[in-house]
Amino acid sequence: MLVLKNETLINRNDAVIDIEDRGYQFGDGVYEVIRYYDGEWFLLDDHLERLQYSLDEAEIDYNVQEEKLKARLHDLMEQNQVQDGGVYLQVTRGFAPRNHPYPEHQQPTLIAYPLNLKRPTHDQTHGIHTITAEDFRWLRCDIKSLNLLGNVMTKQKAIDTGASEAIFYRDESHVTEGSSTNVFIVKNGELITHPADHYILNGITRRHLLYLAERLDIPYRIEVFGLDALKNADEVFVSSTSAEIKPVISVDDQIISNGEPGPITNTLLKNYFDHLSVTKLPNHI
Ligand SMILES: *Cc1c(COP(=O)(O)O)cnc(C)c1O
Repeated sequence: MLVLKNETLINRNDAVIDIEDRGYQFGDGVYEVIRYYDGEWFLLDDHLERLQYSLDEAEIDYNVQEEKLKARLHDLMEQNQVQDGGVYLQVTRGFAPRNHPYPEHQQPTLIAYPLNLKRPTHDQTHGIHTITAEDFRWLRCDIKSLNLLGNVMTKQKAIDTGASEAIFYRDESHVTEGSSTNVFIVKNGELITHPADHYILNGITRRHLLYLAERLDIPYRIEVFGLDALKNADEVFVSSTSAEIKPVISVDDQIISNGEPGPITNTLLKNYFDHLSVTKLPNHI
């Protein structure tokens, strides 16, 4: 496999990272996962725009446009002859003698490589089980940071109890998002999801679904909801680039929508690939 390291495509085994890379030592970096369906990028421009947002907020000195990242990602997929899958990419603040302050001259390290992603059709047909967990992460969840310790510990807790995703809450009246997904509930025909603020990562899939909802005349509200609303919802689903939409059929001990994917969830899933020609989501979403 060829991987992109900074501006060159090299063999995976030649891609060496310095032991003092700040991504490795401090989690000092940001990342993206981008889907590639049948030889085409899915919402690439939105992902690159969010990458620049994460970089800017983290004050990492890297410019996506100047680095011609888009063209390099095209090459990466072409040279690896990827037809379906995705790409993982991360940018760290680079390597420097270990010391907390930013190095005076940042030389960020970019790594990107293809991912073998498959559509999760089994989970989409049958739904998934979830648990709730206290959101003990930091308060800049809007940055897609490499620091995922809180996320991975909580995901493992879900797996250990036989579930496949954990839904975070700050307190009883404030559900935020999943450990690697955004969360939507449906009540009386209306979609509800958390506002895009510093408590959640504003998923590109989340935005894509809100856009689809507008096109399909499904009303939605961007609003904080609590654990009661979550457990008493008519439908619940989670979203992410790799999950797309996964219906939730239980939250802790509570069965949701009789243990089956609900009608609005299924409508969104059925229309997931509509408007594929849209390469950039409208700004109001
Ligand atoms: C990446 C991520 C998501 C989903 O974002 P997408 O752009 O839809 O893939 C949601 N929550 C967290 C914590 C994430 O890291």
